[in-house]
Amino acid sequence: MNTSNGSIPSPLTDNYLLNNDDKLREECGVIGVWTIQDAASLTALGLHALQHRGQEATGIVTFDGKNFHTHRGLGLVGEVFADPQVINKLPGGIAIGHNRYATTGATQIRNVQPLYGDFEFGGFAVAHNGNLTNAQLLKKSLVRRGCLFQSSTDSEVFIHLIAISLYSNVIDRFIDALKQVQGAYSLVALSKDMLIAARDPLGVRPLILGKLTQNKEKKCWVIASETCALSSMGAEFVRDIEPGEVIIVNDNGIRSIKPFQTISHRFCIFEYVYFARPDSVIENKSVYIARQKIGAQLAFENPVDADIVVPVPDSGVPAALGYAKASNIPFELGIIRSHYIGRTFIEPTDQIRNLGVKLKHSTNQAVLKNRRIILIDDSIVRGTTSRKIVEMVRAAGASEVHLRIASPPTRYSCYYGIDTPSQEKLLAHTHDIDEMCKLIGANSLGFISCNGLYKALEEKERNDQKPQYCDACFTGDYPILLTDHDMNLIQNKT
Ligand code: SF4
Repeated sequence: MNTSNGSIPSPLTDNYLLNNDDKLREECGVIGVWTIQDAASLTALGLHALQHRGQEATGIVTFDGKNFHTHRGLGLVGEVFADPQVINKLPGGIAIGHNRYATTGATQIRNVQPLYGDFEFGGFAVAHNGNLTNAQLLKKSLVRRGCLFQSSTDSEVFIHLIAISLYSNVIDRFIDALKQVQGAYSLVALSKDMLIAARDPLGVRPLILGKLTQNKEKKCWVIASETCALSSMGAEFVRDIEPGEVIIVNDNGIRSIKPFQTISHRFCIFEYVYFARPDSVIENKSVYIARQKIGAQLAFENPVDADIVVPVPDSGVPAALGYAKASNIPFELGIIRSHYIGRTFIEPTDQIRNLGVKLKHSTNQAVLKNRRIILIDDSIVRGTTSRKIVEMVRAAGASEVHLRIASPPTRYSCYYGIDTPSQEKLLAHTHDIDEMCKLIGANSLGFISCNGLYKALEEKERNDQKPQYCDACFTGDYPILLTDHDMNLIQNKT
């Protein structure tokens, strides 16, 4: 978009650089364990493996056959559950756990999950990954009916819908609640005699079933957002929980219910690009191999004559390996990422925050100097990080910097559980690729195409009539109604 005087409007002002959120943030991670011993420890191990899905807060609820026990806190799993006494105070063989990155509701202890309520049928705890798109509307009507909300998260809607349901048993109440919500959800829930897991009918967010051998006579089950949690828990993969499936685990084993009409699945394509951990396997595809293939397709679509391929670590590494292999250009670690930055360290002052990228990434002059670099990153959100990194690579002596992105331009916000800035703040929403390239300061800029991304995921191409994935942040084609969002738009206009 050109301004009236012909210059490109720059959102990358200094003020803009103070924003330290130039990355799409993973949503949340959930774990459920039905076992015979150490449920809380196992859950903590699983949550630790899912730390990449949420770093703001974490919590565990257990049931010991008589009572529910809960511990929730702000911080990383290793911080909140550092003291062994905390785990000791969570006895029982059944547990659910949650890692939170806030997509709705502020970061306060009352918003930390699992959420728990006492019902006429006993205690009930829920942990939710995803985002409901009609939560505001439901909340209004629930409040009118006398429900008192304790938190500001959309997930609490589940608790109240279950509480007021007229069905008598827990499963029917749970399904009754699911039928009223719109949006993306992968859920684990815990009552005194069962562990429940559910995935929304489109299967937007991942959820898997695993099994654990603790005792030959009794099968122990694990539910997790991603397979990467299983190995740290000593569990093995059984299968993906299907979109629209509800799984009930109790002493009799596992029961699967499909309470929804079957519809086409729309798994989040961005999980393959960035959100999931590379050692996870989703829907029979290794995330690591998928990312390499995305990198190879990116090289095919956006070739460039250069000396080395350099990833923006860590998320750009598999795609850069794929790009390097496909283009026969050497792969080098030209940027080193520090894993030891405390979150609070970069908070205190604007000056320090402004240095954020430099604290996280430093350049490796030995490989960058006088070289023509192909820099690979997973996505561009606001563009501030990309500009800083390109600047750093040039300052380290690179003679050319060609930026290649392993996803199509992110032009639209996500409403299904990924924290994205509002649409106007997405660089690709307001600028074309040439303008973005100038603002970022690269010699050239190229993105994988949407069809290319589908091809890398072993689809022929995107089926526009019946898309195989959710790709709304690239295409604006939202597969689930945006009820609250649309309602707010109408209200703001009137
Ligand atoms: Fe994933 Fe984008 Fe769809 Fe959100 S809008 S679920 S990030 S593909």
